[in-house]
Amino acid sequence: MEYPEISWGKGVYLYDKEGNRYIDGASGAITANIGHGVDEIAEAMYEQAKKVSFVYRSQFTSEPAEKLAERLAEHAPGDLDWIFFVNSGSEATETALKVAIQYWQEKGRPSKKRVISRWMSYHGITMGALSMSGHSIRRSRFSSLLEQYPELSPPYCYRCAFTQNCPNCADDYAREFETAIQRLGPETIAAFVFEPVIGAAGGAVVPPDGYFEKMKKVCDKYDILMIADEVMTGIGRTGKMFAMEHWNVQPDIVALGKGMSAGYAPMAATIVSDRIIQTIESGSRVILSGHTFSANPQSAATCLAVMDYIENNHVVQNAKLQGSILMKGLKYLEQTYPLVGEARGLGMLCGLELVADQHTKEPFPLNLEVTNRLIQKCYEKGLIVYTAAGGINGHSGDAIIVAPPLTVKTEELQELLTILEEAIAELSHELSN
Ligand code: PLP
Repeated sequence: MEYPEISWGKGVYLYDKEGNRYIDGASGAITANIGHGVDEIAEAMYEQAKKVSFVYRSQFTSEPAEKLAERLAEHAPGDLDWIFFVNSGSEATETALKVAIQYWQEKGRPSKKRVISRWMSYHGITMGALSMSGHSIRRSRFSSLLEQYPELSPPYCYRCAFTQNCPNCADDYAREFETAIQRLGPETIAAFVFEPVIGAAGGAVVPPDGYFEKMKKVCDKYDILMIADEVMTGIGRTGKMFAMEHWNVQPDIVALGKGMSAGYAPMAATIVSDRIIQTIESGSRVILSGHTFSANPQSAATCLAVMDYIENNHVVQNAKLQGSILMKGLKYLEQTYPLVGEARGLGMLCGLELVADQHTKEPFPLNLEVTNRLIQKCYEKGLIVYTAAGGINGHSGDAIIVAPPLTVKTEELQELLTILEEAIAELSHELSN
């Protein structure tokens, strides 16, 4: 497919060279969280560029990097205070993996050197991050190079692995976790890595009540660290600054990306609890990770301006409020169109799963390319939505993510929902012929 050339953007809208307007119903890749073309960010970028854009992290620190680290630590729950800057979500999750392994080495338990993750997950595209990802399609071509970290069922109640007890299935997921730990040996497992809300591999899948509390108990019992991959959910996307605040469970390590810079610069971070970093610093004293562009002052100043914008404009509160309006509209689509199996999500991270039969939940055959067709129809009508197809357990999986900028207004959401409904109605008509 040929992509249109984009010329400029303002708020939730993007404009291409031909003058076509698109409503960004996915914030790009769930990234442009404060919308496009925000003047304050452009000005902050210019001011920093006039001072200094680059220093190397092993030679200098910089005011914006220090301030950004402080700001993130202020917002992060509990003792998640130590920040390591990288450039992408994949690097953030991969750094989290390395930190966990180093921690156990310093504790004198070097056999704890693998992580355990879930199927139907996405943690990034580099080899370590892909090893953690339970995304069959993205793993398929590189399987011989990857570690087999995915072991657990995703907490995916629409097609629950424990239907007999669902929605009271949190205990079953915890039991499955414990059984896997015993099979692999607790002495081999450094950390459990998970997305608070499953994004690209599932389409905004929220776990059942009690899930994280119970998984945390199992982690504590077997000395396993919790790594929350908040690359998609972090910095307000779900209506709280960090999604894990919804469950009041504090992870040991958090990966951030995407919304941290809202797309204005490539920057991401791994946030580590004081307890863990103190252990590492008392031993080898250094995290064995880092990139040329880590803690880049230009990117840090940009992220800092994004954080200011989010705080000054009550963006997280807006995400919660508008997210509930969006969910109402998506539930209406679920009730109206049998093609929509489930509307789901948390805050402004929402999704639709598409099915051939709403009652039996039978998926569409792969060759019908239902997700791509819906995305294409939306595109032609001036709406961008995001694919979450291909990662869903046990079948091809058709799902989209609907996640506009957190600054979206109610009337813009109405426009988004009208276009989405038109596209779904057209596709339903086509599929029934
Ligand atoms: N983790 C999660 C939960 C993601 O959704 C993504 C990207 O979609 C990543 C990690 C990888 O981030 P990046 O594409 O910035 O490397």
